[in-house]
Amino acid sequence: MSRELDPLSTASGGGAPRFPLHARILAGLILGAVLGIGAHAVWALPPAGTASAQLDQDANGVDDRLDWVALNIADPVGRVFLRLVLMVVLPLIFSALALAVVELGDLRRLGSVGVRTLLLTLLLSGAAVAIGVILVNTIRPGERLSESNRTSLAHQYADSLAEALAQSARAKSVKDTLLDMIPENPLQEMVGALDGTSKGNGILAVMFFALVIGAAMAAVGERAQTLVHVLDSVYAVCMQVIAWAMQIAPLGVACLVFAMTARLGGGVFVTLIWFLLTVMLGFAIQLCVVYPLLLWLVGQRSPRAFFRQIEAAMLTAFGTSSSNATLPVSLRVAEERLRLPPAIARFVLTVGATGNQNGTALFEGVVVLFLAQVFGVDLSVGQQITVVLLAVLAGVGTAGVPGGSIPMIVLVLQSIGVPGESIAIILGIDRICDMCRTVLNVTGDLALAACVARH
Ligand code: ASP
Repeated sequence: MSRELDPLSTASGGGAPRFPLHARILAGLILGAVLGIGAHAVWALPPAGTASAQLDQDANGVDDRLDWVALNIADPVGRVFLRLVLMVVLPLIFSALALAVVELGDLRRLGSVGVRTLLLTLLLSGAAVAIGVILVNTIRPGERLSESNRTSLAHQYADSLAEALAQSARAKSVKDTLLDMIPENPLQEMVGALDGTSKGNGILAVMFFALVIGAAMAAVGERAQTLVHVLDSVYAVCMQVIAWAMQIAPLGVACLVFAMTARLGGGVFVTLIWFLLTVMLGFAIQLCVVYPLLLWLVGQRSPRAFFRQIEAAMLTAFGTSSSNATLPVSLRVAEERLRLPPAIARFVLTVGATGNQNGTALFEGVVVLFLAQVFGVDLSVGQQITVVLLAVLAGVGTAGVPGGSIPMIVLVLQSIGVPGESIAIILGIDRICDMCRTVLNVTGDLALAACVARH
């Protein structure tokens, strides 16, 4: 199975482009922000004393014509690439999760190694998400936005937010949240996952369904091979559509950021700095506290020596932003430097490159709660638990490629009632976050392998 297509691949069908995609997305962000902030400065500050200048202003203190361009041209153009992503995100997640379980199913051959891998994966991803959720609830980066900016954002995304309010009104108790993870009608959950009309738990129920089907496919073995191949093709095709969508992401990000900054000014970037600080602090805690503790207590190794031995894998992860691309280096490091038994190293690292993504889980939890704060969407305890579970599962279902978590984040946002388009706010700085979370993902895989090999 080669589930390695890269949605942020720089190839756009021809030869190698001059600028990699992430650089073009960053350029889109900068261009959109410069034009937007410039337009805001010009049209929000009419020359003093001109009476007519006061007439055409909306509630934000922005010229009506600028408001119109932002809302009716830039914003819709910006949403196109997100629609393309959303179009295939459900089959993508279903096939990715089911196939991940089928791969895990092979672990019966490895007996208790598999069970330990699974338990430690859940422990590490659970710890990562918990750290992220605690930090984002303590620092509250999304609330560092002025009240007037928040009101304008709410106005801009009014349609999606109306849905958010409707969803909050349907907020469920913790008991129902958990029970509704088991879908009565998976097809209905799939249809409702994106527009919030599902009866159960929407995307979480779809994920549960995928896990059960994956487990059954693994149990059936040979006779499920055709289905494995079909799902593998579905996965590859969806990744290709996302790769195409990402080719227009630079324009999309420029338009969405322009629409936002033209109406709000540059204040929104202050929030972004707080967001980045929260994410990096979370990564640092996972890397410098959680992994060393695990290595010391379970792996019975010196964390300092461990980090020195896996340096090459960490640097490759940072450079490539891809767990899959780092896999060959991780395997070599595991066998030659950590001296792990090859069978265990091969199994844990191959499964872990897609299935154990602690940095990604942490990041997805923080992004979703951050954007909920930005949009003033109050999440009930049940919804916060949903986000935590989704983020842990996202760590299993996200492809180990650059930007692999983006489709997942859009879907989780929609499912808790935060406008999916709002991901544009963080997309421009995603590459640097991706480099760092991939380092965590790869370090987590190697730490996991060291612990599993120990017992
Ligand atoms: N780039 C990450 C990885 O390959 C996945 C992601 O979080 O986007 O591990």
